[in-house]
Amino acid sequence: MSLNRLFRLISIALLLLFLAFAVSLVWTEWNSYRNGANSVPALRTFRLALVALEKLSAERGPANAFMGASASQREAVADKLKNARAETDAALAALRQALQSHPRLRQSWSLDKVKTVQQALEPARAAIDRIGRQPEAERNNVYVLSAVGGMVDMIPLMIRVASELSSEVDHADPELREGLAAIRAAASLREYAGQVGSRFTPALIAHRKLTQDEVIEIGRLYGRIELLRGLLNTQMASYVQRPEFARALELVDKQYFDNGFQFLDFLLQTGVASGDYGLTSVDLFRFYVPQMKSITDLRDLLLDDMMEQAERHNRRARNYLLLVIAVTVVACLFFQVLMVLIRRRVVQPLVLATDLVSGLVEGRLDQEIPQPRYEDEISAMMRALKVLRQRMRERNSLAREREALITQLQTSSNTDFLTGVLNRRAFFTHGQQQMTVAKRYGRELAVVLFDIDHFKQINDSYGHQAGDAILRGVAQSVSQLLRKVDVLARYGGEEFIILLPESSLLQAAAASEKLRAALAAGEFEIDGGRRIRVTASFGVAAENGGPGLEHLIKQADIALYRAKKLGRNRVELAGEEEGVEGAGT
Ligand code: GH3
Ligand code: MG
Ligand code: MG
Repeated sequence: MSLNRLFRLISIALLLLFLAFAVSLVWTEWNSYRNGANSVPALRTFRLALVALEKLSAERGPANAFMGASASQREAVADKLKNARAETDAALAALRQALQSHPRLRQSWSLDKVKTVQQALEPARAAIDRIGRQPEAERNNVYVLSAVGGMVDMIPLMIRVASELSSEVDHADPELREGLAAIRAAASLREYAGQVGSRFTPALIAHRKLTQDEVIEIGRLYGRIELLRGLLNTQMASYVQRPEFARALELVDKQYFDNGFQFLDFLLQTGVASGDYGLTSVDLFRFYVPQMKSITDLRDLLLDDMMEQAERHNRRARNYLLLVIAVTVVACLFFQVLMVLIRRRVVQPLVLATDLVSGLVEGRLDQEIPQPRYEDEISAMMRALKVLRQRMRERNSLAREREALITQLQTSSNTDFLTGVLNRRAFFTHGQQQMTVAKRYGRELAVVLFDIDHFKQINDSYGHQAGDAILRGVAQSVSQLLRKVDVLARYGGEEFIILLPESSLLQAAAASEKLRAALAAGEFEIDGGRRIRVTASFGVAAENGGPGLEHLIKQADIALYRAKKLGRNRVELAGEEEGVEGAGT
């Protein structure tokens, strides 16, 4: 796998891994933000439930008062009762509305229970109205007890509803748990405070002593209230550092546990001792109920604070989510930039360098080596590659020069420097080859030796330079007249030799005659523009698979010698008897 491809695969794998991690992080934060966003609406619904619970409890105050009211008090109390009922109804309707508009709570247990409470209220209220309208003397203790009970019976349901809605809040934002516990303690305290008041109502209405059961029940409620007081103090431990909470808690102690309880203690003592209270259920309502306001005030303070906390948590979760998204995006971009950087600055140059080295190895010395943009190891490598390319170019050009030199040397060692035709050594090399070929294929091969006549005289008469010019002229004239396959060489001094492949003795003789005639007919120009005539004598030999080149040359030399002897400017053939005349003689 190429480095480029490997790197691409690794970066894709890393990016995917990184993205998976980032998505899971964002997903977790998104979920906690969305969950947290539920906390404020859940808290509102919870508050509605607490208010409904409180109103339901509060309605018992005027209801009990109404059942014990004298004819003169009746209308005033009835008015209060009407208002209290309206408040209860409004609170329950608001809670029901909130539950119905919630996508999940619409089908909840809570909504059912709220409807049940709304339905149960009607007969309970009717029972209270019936007793309240009776003359005081006819008010039956059993009915009063049952009417009081009718209003209390709905409370556990409402407490369950509040409890369920408190779980919703807890689920949405677990950090609110401590505050929720304090609120529930305060709400329960308010409820049991109301209930303990209600327990005195029948005795007050009937102006009688408390029964044994009532005393036990009141004692039990006292115990509950004391327990809730302790619980509330524990749950408020972290709150009391804040002055407004410390003040509110102090107010509960002062108003409810001091004033309210003093009043209850008085009723209890009187109810056990004589039943001669000197006051009615209306007085109980007027004095005792307001003492409980400190508890609901504390509850509302806690609720307000919790709402603020929930909103703060929400904002924090949203900010954190945005931060996580931003960090993820930035990290993603950074990762991409890093990958591109590594790719551009390491992988690509490395791949390029590899290609360049391969190219150099294959001899592509003209390839462009890029100018590196940064001063680093890669740029050092590119520089080294340039040096390498330069060295290779130099070495190549040296090699070329050497080859040219060798060729030149070979040529000059084979060539006669004066005439430009082959020298004697080259003739033998070439001649041996031709002889081998001729022998192998049974072909004829002829050799002609010719020597310029009276050359010494030319030298003597016109000078050595003139002799040289004649030699060059003769070589040139003869080469022009020969076939391409024939080979002319300077044999020595003014003597030349010709190799005629695939030629018989007669064919070679004819060729020699042609040369002889041409030389004799021509004139050679020497220095000073003078023209000189020369002749040459020819000795011809040919053989077909004979003993060899040397022998053939010897034969030709003998014939040449004969030609000289017989008067020069003639052609003599090897093997012919002396006296046979050449064509030009
Ligand atoms: P013949 O007709 O018998 O061949 O007479 P010749 O004078 O040609 O023969 P000889 O062998 O006596 O003389 C050959 C002369 O050629 C002698 C030498 O000075 C001359 N010669 C040999 N080589 C060269 C050369 O390269 N240049 C010149 N100018 N003269 C040369
Ligand atoms: Mg000669
Ligand atoms: Mg000679």
